[in-house]
Amino acid sequence: MRILLNEDQLQAGVERLATEIDRFYGDQRPVTVIAVMTGSVVLFADLIRRLSMPQRVGVIQASSYRGGTQSQELEVNETMMIDVKGRDVLLVDDIFDTGRTLDRLTGLIRERGAKTTKTAVLLHKHRQHEVSLRPDFVGFEIPDEFVVGYGLDYLDMYRNLPYLAVLEPSEIDATKSESER
Ligand code: 5GP
Ligand code: MG
Repeated sequence: MRILLNEDQLQAGVERLATEIDRFYGDQRPVTVIAVMTGSVVLFADLIRRLSMPQRVGVIQASSYRGGTQSQELEVNETMMIDVKGRDVLLVDDIFDTGRTLDRLTGLIRERGAKTTKTAVLLHKHRQHEVSLRPDFVGFEIPDEFVVGYGLDYLDMYRNLPYLAVLEPSEIDATKSESER
């Protein structure tokens, strides 16, 4: 694996994100901060502890990478969602790739009656996006490569890596057999 961002760089990025988000919301009113599971799990834990405003915290699940590295049909699971009616909502995801996930979830949160909806991502892939939505807060711009670590997986593996790495094509098959052991 080729390391793209090491632990120190990731922490500096999260700190930058938190500073921007703090500046935007201030610390007077609660913000409803929602993690897009599962990829944002590591980022989310680091980020919410750095934000100074009072927070209501919840999760929603969306999955589009079903056993591969290509984005496919999006599945959304709202069973663990908290009430967002009349709330200022911040959706937190690991990465903005095609943009379909956050576009769809932003629409859904609005339908559920949120007063405002903003989005924060650690990573923004440099590529043509498929939607007009753009994330409001971005940690890093990265090239259009398949990355793992710091919450991001391949076949549900590698989420625990403390750094972000590019998974080389030769490592894809090796991961398949490792995940079945
Ligand atoms: P989008 O809907 O913007 O295309 O993709 C967002 C979701 O796809 C992310 O939440 C993430 O789970 C997954 N994804 C996109 N790019 C990558 C990548 O390079 N590596 C991994 N592991 N997941 C990705
Ligand atoms: Mg995801």
